[in-house]
Amino acid sequence: MRYEGLVYRPPSEARSLIIQATLSCPHNKCAFCSMYKGRKFRVRPMEEIIEDLDSALEVYGTGAVRTIFLADGNSAVLPTEKLVTIGEEARKRFPDLERITVYGSAKFLVKKSQDEWRQVAEAGVTRIHSGLESGDAATLEAINKGVTPEEAVEAYRHVKEAGIELSVYLMVGVAGIERWREHALGSAAVLNQAPPDFIRLRTFVPQPRTAWHDRWAEGKLTLLSAYEALEETRLLIASLHGPTQLLSDHVSNFVDVNGRLPDDKTAMLARIDQAAGLPLKAFRPPTEKLIGVGL
Ligand code: SF4
Repeated sequence: MRYEGLVYRPPSEARSLIIQATLSCPHNKCAFCSMYKGRKFRVRPMEEIIEDLDSALEVYGTGAVRTIFLADGNSAVLPTEKLVTIGEEARKRFPDLERITVYGSAKFLVKKSQDEWRQVAEAGVTRIHSGLESGDAATLEAINKGVTPEEAVEAYRHVKEAGIELSVYLMVGVAGIERWREHALGSAAVLNQAPPDFIRLRTFVPQPRTAWHDRWAEGKLTLLSAYEALEETRLLIASLHGPTQLLSDHVSNFVDVNGRLPDDKTAMLARIDQAAGLPLKAFRPPTEKLIGVGL
């Protein structure tokens, strides 16, 4: 396998074989994101992807690869035929493959028909990780996510109905103290209309050389304290109906809250209320102190 630039993958794909099917991100405009800044989006030729699959087969053998993650940001943008071919070629080499996964922003998910997504799922690409960050219209516009709440609902229903498992990422604190309430309620509204299999929380940490970092540095965006982040998360969970599973499997979060909704809602809210009574030193350092450490 060969890799170009820093390769990012969701925490839940830590054990997956990573194949770069695309390089960089076709959107590359989110105000908080520094992952692919300065890197031009490119689709890797099929021959190179096949070569990487062959190298992995040589290194790991046929039975060891159970999951594959197709990097970089938004490989869901690839044409249906290409995703189908990658799926088929991967399964030929690794018959025990359980899933192939891609990143896919709602902006790109709506571009394929449901029938196309069905073909992609049948070829083995059965899980999409989608960064929504917020369901609040004003926040989505301000962070330049390239999608409205209505489009996100349409996109998520679209892929779910095609039989694809969906993980949606929300960013606690991305709207600052200025819009935390709208951010939590708007996010719950989108995910109640189109419940994904998983909702994964990460907490916003300003990344140097991004517009959202500058907004914070200029005093126009106030970072949430641990207690404020808990309050936002509490409102989100209290407003979510499910059925879905909420996970906070990221080191940026102040508290781990995990569970199924609606069944575990009471227990999850109790966990947050218990954490809200802890002294500040019980939490990770304030977000300001994490800037530049690569979270
Ligand atoms: S779509 Fe994802 S990878 Fe692309 S700029 Fe936005 S957050 Fe970054």
